[in-house]
Amino acid sequence: MKLVTYNGGHLGVVTARGVVDVTDLAGVPADFWPPIGMSRLIAQFPRLAPEIRRRSIEAAAVPLDSVRLGPPQPRPGNLIAYPANFEAHRDEMRSPYRASSRGFFLKATSSICGPADDIELPDIPLREIHHECEFGIVIGRGGRGIGRAEAMSHVFGYCCLIDMTVRGDEERVMRKSYDTFTPIGPWLVTADEVPDPHAMALRLSVNGQVRQQANTRDLILDIPGMIEMASSVMTLQPGDLIASGTPAGVGPLRAGDTVSIEVEGLGAMALAVRQSTHGMNAAFEHGNRSKSPTA
Ligand code: MN
Repeated sequence: MKLVTYNGGHLGVVTARGVVDVTDLAGVPADFWPPIGMSRLIAQFPRLAPEIRRRSIEAAAVPLDSVRLGPPQPRPGNLIAYPANFEAHRDEMRSPYRASSRGFFLKATSSICGPADDIELPDIPLREIHHECEFGIVIGRGGRGIGRAEAMSHVFGYCCLIDMTVRGDEERVMRKSYDTFTPIGPWLVTADEVPDPHAMALRLSVNGQVRQQANTRDLILDIPGMIEMASSVMTLQPGDLIASGTPAGVGPLRAGDTVSIEVEGLGAMALAVRQSTHGMNAAFEHGNRSKSPTA
């Protein structure tokens, strides 16, 4: 099943016939704030799945290209992100850090945007702002202290994810939390439709040129490892989003670029990059422009 948000907070399922509306099943209206409809749908999915399946066959659909897609999970309770998690990227960053020995960080959930949005580059003189090609893991069943053996049963689904980053040595959370710095999409693919999430090809291109190419079989910390580590710290909740960490090939984006990401089985999306006039602050006036030691 491919789940989306569209046209300002509607929830939908993507079928061969187009997008079918399932907003009402979540129990909050499309314009409800905060945007928790998808979290509610995920939390109640075992009960709602038969009706969603029935509608995806029988209910009226609108063409996919006639709707404006939003981020498939606009408001996870937590947005957990792993740093250097592919061996080649760690080498590229000349870093001794790796996800398996450094753990995770958090990004602001407000940094999430969707496939139809532009990535806005903050106006920070002399700083490189990099793309990181990743995939997102969305939690279905929550829990604390989830062990490796059971971890995959807690996964709801997956999506493409770009972890945008201002390079530097200021607090990583700030450098990675600008609005539009976590594009996800184009849809959320339920785990049952991903035959082997540890054998997915990832690719990111800028203006048609491939910059990052990898396979999830080369993860340092695999999906059960990421869930085990995160849930050792916090109780995972339905709808929580984990960013996988990036492979080699990170690099700067500039205004006017188009960045495209494709993950095998999860779809593809292309986003325009434009300059913002916002984003400078005192920390960047005094900070070090050197590359961050971690992703
Ligand atoms: Mn990253």
